[in-house]
Amino acid sequence: MSAVTPGLVCGHHHLYSALARGMPAPPTQPTTFLEILEQVWWRLDVALDPETIRWSAMLGAVEALQCGTTAIVDHHESPSYIEGSLSIIAEACAEVGVRTNLCYGVTDRHGPHGAARGLAENERFLRAGGRGMVGVHAAFTCSDDTLHAAAALAADLGVGVHIHVAEGRDDIAAGVRLEPLARDDWWLVHCVFLDRTLPGTIAHNPRSNMNNSVGYAQPATRANRIVLGTDGIGADMLEEARLAYARLRENDVTATPLTVWQWLDNGYELFPEARLDQVTWNYPNADSAWHVAYTPGVRALDVVLDTGEQVLRDGVPTRVDVAEVQAKAAEQAARLFARL
Ligand SMILES: [Zn+2]
Repeated sequence: MSAVTPGLVCGHHHLYSALARGMPAPPTQPTTFLEILEQVWWRLDVALDPETIRWSAMLGAVEALQCGTTAIVDHHESPSYIEGSLSIIAEACAEVGVRTNLCYGVTDRHGPHGAARGLAENERFLRAGGRGMVGVHAAFTCSDDTLHAAAALAADLGVGVHIHVAEGRDDIAAGVRLEPLARDDWWLVHCVFLDRTLPGTIAHNPRSNMNNSVGYAQPATRANRIVLGTDGIGADMLEEARLAYARLRENDVTATPLTVWQWLDNGYELFPEARLDQVTWNYPNADSAWHVAYTPGVRALDVVLDTGEQVLRDGVPTRVDVAEVQAKAAEQAARLFARL
């Protein structure tokens, strides 16, 4: 038994949603997954600007570190401020001491020009040495031309495509449309309604799927490598793992937590160095899946990165002033809400 584990990896996040909590209610009550996108997330993302992007990323990174999460695979969209947006997120997270793999979610929702600008931001960031993938929002918001362009750019740059796949019924055609394009290095998010096997890693986000009433993704029935993500609802990976286990167990009473902890472990494929981070927890059996699966409230106390630098001490980030980050984020959230 040990209170020390490697750093945890969040396999799918939207850091910009850190400021969404408490946002004003949409004008009409969304009743479907598509209406939630239209009335909540697509109103929010269009209102993002450099300051809201920066402070949401900073707050999201601070909260991740406080949960022992040292690496985040993020999927970003800010249609009113595209160029340079990924660098802002990269810098904010690096400042806190959290690694990132970033992408900009290309979409035709704002016309072919918007899609081209999104592709250009992925290319700019990756060619400048940024760590990431080529992002696509989802097949159902993209033309075939855009999907092909994203796949070609990713192949050219030697990275995968990070894309929401069949999260809701509206994207039921994702399987047939992506089949000719997908490769082993693709990052396929959700796959609740995916009707075939695609190559790539599947990011499973059980809390988000429940929150959007889209159903259970049945990740254990897939042959793909599975990782766990939060889809923007924080970066507490032990919390997400406990929920993933409860959801798995609800469907299969013979399931064990080891399956879900393997999904956590699979994050090291993308962030091998996070395995060398040392997180000390407030619980003596933090390294046991069987313990943590049934123990809410396991908290990170100290985080020492693979470089030897301590970035969390007694639950407090060492590089940034948490109170200042929270105050700035609250200020930016108020500005953001006023614009909605
Ligand atoms: Zn997502």
